[in-house]
Amino acid sequence: MNWPSKIINDINSILLPPVCFGCNVQLSRGEYLLCTVCRHDLPMTGHNFTEENAVDRIFYGRVPIEKAASFLFFSKHGIVKNLLHYLKYKNQYEVGDLIGNWFGFQIAGEKDLQIDAVIPVPLHPKKLKKRGYNQVELFGKKMASHLNAQYRDTVLIKTQNTKTQTKKSRLARWKNNQDLFVLKNAKGLEHKKLLLVDDVITTGATIEACATTLLQISNVQLYVATMAVVP
Ligand SMILES: [Zn+2]
Repeated sequence: MNWPSKIINDINSILLPPVCFGCNVQLSRGEYLLCTVCRHDLPMTGHNFTEENAVDRIFYGRVPIEKAASFLFFSKHGIVKNLLHYLKYKNQYEVGDLIGNWFGFQIAGEKDLQIDAVIPVPLHPKKLKKRGYNQVELFGKKMASHLNAQYRDTVLIKTQNTKTQTKKSRLARWKNNQDLFVLKNAKGLEHKKLLLVDDVITTGATIEACATTLLQISNVQLYVATMAVVP
């Protein structure tokens, strides 16, 4: 996080009483980011890295991914939408810490998963400068620390500052996405297991484009973890 965003964040936390990022009630002592009610009501997917799930099926026939999982179900209204809104637009980057810690702890409990490096979906440098932080960074770092993996955020570079693509057809989006990401510092990642991380999976187009780029590295195995998925 760059210093203007950090200052805004610090000022906010001094001036405003901490509220729940799920429902905006004032937090009680000992509660962190979410109130106890929202914490219990979080729509968890229950995904793990051993059994097939709906996120795996998004990528079948599109790009070879060993295993994918999301932590929460995203819906148009409710706790997850609010939580991610705070993370992306209100400088509340600690949300990534909360989710990464929780999901990372769960995933790390699955013995056979030996991830070598965690790679975040990058923002375009201009967007990164504007927002001050990549909203996926803390999530990725926490996942990496639970998995004893490196966190590598200079492997993928986003080449175009795309506006929202939701109005384009799936084919147009796919074509547009194919050259959106390039490899940069991928040295030492050959023959490794890589975990690609992002905030929300909607159509899977962004993950597909990143995964296709990462597969240019010799003999890598790709895994995917996201904070949420649109069911
Ligand atoms: Zn709440």
